[in-house]
Amino acid sequence: MPVINIDDLTDKDKAKMAVDQLKIEVKLERALVSKCCEEVRDYIQSGSEDDILVKDHPIYTYEHFALKESLSKIIEQEINPFVDQWEKAGLFPAHKIFKILGSAGFLGVNKPIEYGGLGLDFSYSVAVSEELGNIRCGGIPMAIGVQTDMATPALARFGSPELKKEFLIPTILGDKVCCLGVSEVGAGSDVANIVTKAVRKGDEFVINGGKMWTTNGTQADWMCLLANTNDGMPHKNKSLICLPMNLPGIHIARKIDKMGMWSSDTAEVFFDDVRVPCKNVIGQEGMGFTYQMLQFQEERLWGVANILTMMDNVVQETIQYTRQRKIFKQPVLHHQSVHFRLAELETEIELLRSLLYRATALYIKGNDVTKLASMAKLKGGRLAREVETAACSIGEGWGSPVTFWLAGFTGTPD
Ligand SMILES: Cc1cc2nc3c(=O)[nH]c(=O)nc-3n(C[C@H](O)[C@H](O)[C@H](O)COP(=O)(O)OP(=O)(O)OC[C@H]3O[C@@H](n4cnc5c(N)ncnc54)[C@H](O)[C@@H]3O)c2cc1C
Repeated sequence: MPVINIDDLTDKDKAKMAVDQLKIEVKLERALVSKCCEEVRDYIQSGSEDDILVKDHPIYTYEHFALKESLSKIIEQEINPFVDQWEKAGLFPAHKIFKILGSAGFLGVNKPIEYGGLGLDFSYSVAVSEELGNIRCGGIPMAIGVQTDMATPALARFGSPELKKEFLIPTILGDKVCCLGVSEVGAGSDVANIVTKAVRKGDEFVINGGKMWTTNGTQADWMCLLANTNDGMPHKNKSLICLPMNLPGIHIARKIDKMGMWSSDTAEVFFDDVRVPCKNVIGQEGMGFTYQMLQFQEERLWGVANILTMMDNVVQETIQYTRQRKIFKQPVLHHQSVHFRLAELETEIELLRSLLYRATALYIKGNDVTKLASMAKLKGGRLAREVETAACSIGEGWGSPVTFWLAGFTGTPD
């Protein structure tokens, strides 16, 4: 075989080699998932009792369960044993964890194969998000969700091939950490009212302003930034820009302390005459508000799927605890008011799950589900508060440490 000197290759040849390599990796991942599928199918066909939901699931197939199964192993081996340590430190090693998840294909399940994704539909992202809810804190799943379903959907859908090569591929592979810059000190829910400005000077934008509550903000390699790129109408004057975070003029002002989600770094970021090439705009200039609103749909559904598992776990652990804890000569669980409360919460969780699956089923068929996704997000945020309060009060001394990681969801992003 002739020896190829990498320096003799053209950029085109190198790009082709990189894509070929990615295709091999994706094939390997698929082979693994397929093997796992067979195991899951065998298990289901062996006929254990409450498997009806698995055999006849409204949106999941064997492949969804296989993905969940292999993610669950990573969570148990690589994440959960270290959660307490990272929560105390107020930071988790995003680059290390994202590389592990990226190498196993979990950072781009619904992203195109040619950019390193698995090329599956959004229901697989929902399945992954549900499984990530088994991480024993809220901060790390949220940070992963920002990378997979909050800061990258618009880039995958509307970005140029060059931008996708520079930002999407390394993000899906876990080589780069990204963040989403929408909220500002003076504008959160009212996205149209942001003031960060990107003024065109030649073939560059000069950016001034700042972003607030930026998840992954202290560790990110790039930001999906929403900025005003002209002085027109507020819904037509914004653009989404891929902004490398190592440019001169970007200052991380502080890491914000929060009541929960401690291991996730939440930053305040300032831009002082930051220069970025105009070609870094995602899609069409001036369409940023619309792209961001579309991006929020996936973010909302992802968030609901994630919190469902956490709420489920809190209720199940409360049931276990109250079953063995005795008060007035019988288990706490056998007191009717406690039993009824927990049954009611379980019912509400299942209702929310049905809404999530319906919205997801409609979304993957190409429908606009803004209303259903927003309803699900509203209900998810409220229910998380209810579950947290109920588990805290039913468990008394035990309840507080068990539910503290739900606390961050009382202020959920978007
Ligand atoms: C842990 C965490 C992580 C986050 N990560 C990110 C991130 O990565 N990137 C990012 O851009 N942002 C992020 N956010 C910000 C989050 O998206 C904002 O908190 C959200 O947009 C709300 O904005 P705000 O906090 O400025 O509240 P405001 O918009 O000021 O809202 C204040 C109050 O007004 C209410 N309100 C809003 N709209 C209406 C209305 N139409 N009528 C009546 N009342 C209304 C709200 O419910 C709220 O009670 C994060 C937040 C948290 C808590």
